[in-house]
Amino acid sequence: MTRAALRLMAVLAHPDDESLAIGGTLARYAGEGVGTFLVTATRGERGRNGESRDTSPAQLGALREAELLEASRVLGVSEVHFLDYPDGSLDQMDPREAVARIAAHIRRVRPHVVLTFGPDGAYGHPDHIAISQLTTAAILAAAGHDQIDRPHQVSKLYYIAWTKNKWDAYQAALKTLRARVDGVERQATPWPDWAVTTVIDTGDYWPAVWRAVSSHKTQMSIYRNLESLSDERHLALWGSQEFYRAFSLVNGGRALETDLFEGLRCRSSQGIAA
Ligand SMILES: [Zn+2]
Repeated sequence: MTRAALRLMAVLAHPDDESLAIGGTLARYAGEGVGTFLVTATRGERGRNGESRDTSPAQLGALREAELLEASRVLGVSEVHFLDYPDGSLDQMDPREAVARIAAHIRRVRPHVVLTFGPDGAYGHPDHIAISQLTTAAILAAAGHDQIDRPHQVSKLYYIAWTKNKWDAYQAALKTLRARVDGVERQATPWPDWAVTTVIDTGDYWPAVWRAVSSHKTQMSIYRNLESLSDERHLALWGSQEFYRAFSLVNGGRALETDLFEGLRCRSSQGIAA
């Protein structure tokens, strides 16, 4: 069986998270020959379908699944899997089952690096927060010994860490993101610049990211403003991506990383990547 020497897995909540949050990163690493794998928890069936009011959640879920597959093709993602959880209720699911299912994907794919949302959930979205917690727990579970499958130890875990600059560019182009949860309004929570451990240059990939974002046609009533952006503003949105290294078993320190696989590159050629 041939498999890419280096493998990256993203575990996210909804169709379009992959394009909006980490599209440039997925496109760049796929372009470099890294195996890129996406696990998406829901089909986003509680979102909108443009201005239409008469699409059932099941129909919308099917449309959004197809859109995610198209976006993933544009971004060069090797494999996409859905966890089939209901949109908007991820934090109500049985965590043991959800963790076991994500851990099973980790053991199957055997990624070196895993990406997910941070504890802020980008703007406090409960599904984003839930997938962050579940994925973090699944990395632990996948590394443990049990009777089910061969363990796998992920080398590095990253959280998506949008800074104030990025949020300002994003919300100026789109809209202010808000989530109303238990009667309390949540908004974008920028990470302090000093907390960012890793900045990935995705400047060459912004046209692909924009094509991937545009694949989410049911959501384009929200993204329409993006169609009139100048190339410079597209570049400001998609030209770099920031992350917080939640843990690494292969490197450390405060030097800013420019590569998610720092600490892994030389080792993989010696066969440690298997
Ligand atoms: Zn989302």
